[in-house]
Amino acid sequence: MLTSDVKEYLSDLVDILIVSFIFYQLLLLLRGTRAVQLVKGISVVVLLWIISRYFELRTVTWLIENLFSVGVIAIIVIFQPEVRRALEQIGRGGFFSRHRVIREEEVNQLVGEIAKAVQYFSSNHVGALIVLEQRTGLYDYIRTGVTLNADVSSELIRTVFATNTPLHDGAIIIQESKITAAGCFLPLSESTRISKSLGTRHRAGLGMSEISDAIVIIVSEESGVVSIAQNGLLETNLSNEAFLSHLFQLLKQKPVKLGKERGVQNG
Ligand code: ATP
Ligand code: MG
Repeated sequence: MLTSDVKEYLSDLVDILIVSFIFYQLLLLLRGTRAVQLVKGISVVVLLWIISRYFELRTVTWLIENLFSVGVIAIIVIFQPEVRRALEQIGRGGFFSRHRVIREEEVNQLVGEIAKAVQYFSSNHVGALIVLEQRTGLYDYIRTGVTLNADVSSELIRTVFATNTPLHDGAIIIQESKITAAGCFLPLSESTRISKSLGTRHRAGLGMSEISDAIVIIVSEESGVVSIAQNGLLETNLSNEAFLSHLFQLLKQKPVKLGKERGVQNG
């Protein structure tokens, strides 16, 4: 008797946990894509439907219910690329391990290459905008740029942002340990708290960090100042050491000897 109760309780618990997990993963997939607007739209319609049901507005209810049945097909047609990508990701097992754990050495390598480039940009007043994708998918922004799919190296980053090259405008997006795209257009922040002296590059970096969990590194062309935007917050005027420790902290890694061992020094 008791055991069957416990079993029922446990299976309910597991049930709820699995569904929450699926919803959570779906939300992560959706964040930062145009499907967010869709989800908002659907929520409004569902709310209207509940209200019209409650007040027994029969015609409105009828209309909304019919809209739903047509809507599902319309959504699949309109969002065919997204649906396909999501299914592919699930197929690759990516749904459960969207981010394979990057090994510590890989993070060190990545940060080392970025730090070298950033220091060069800072001392030579070259503007740069570097996005590190975290859990939120950034495909919608990758699409706005030029695909690279290249290993991360300070030389490549420097080449991309070299003034007057076709790709220097916009941002590069790094997924795990690859530079996926360059020349990407990011959403501008509408925050009023951001200093008036900061222009669109900083606004774009901050904007990206507001709508996703990405870590964005910004180097100012005017002043050479290095900033990091994350979670809608802009940490600006970072020294080399502060930049490194901040980046490691955001990547949830201990700063491992990097400063001394491999190249934060120029060149
Ligand atoms: P800086 O301190 O380097 O001058 P800033 O914050 O003052 O930066 P602007 O001077 O307006 O910004 O920099 C313009 C550059 O920022 C553009 O040439 C472009 O490379 C980049 N940029 C502007 N808007 C975006 C955007 N939405 N997405 C990506 N990059 C952008
Ligand atoms: Mg400017």
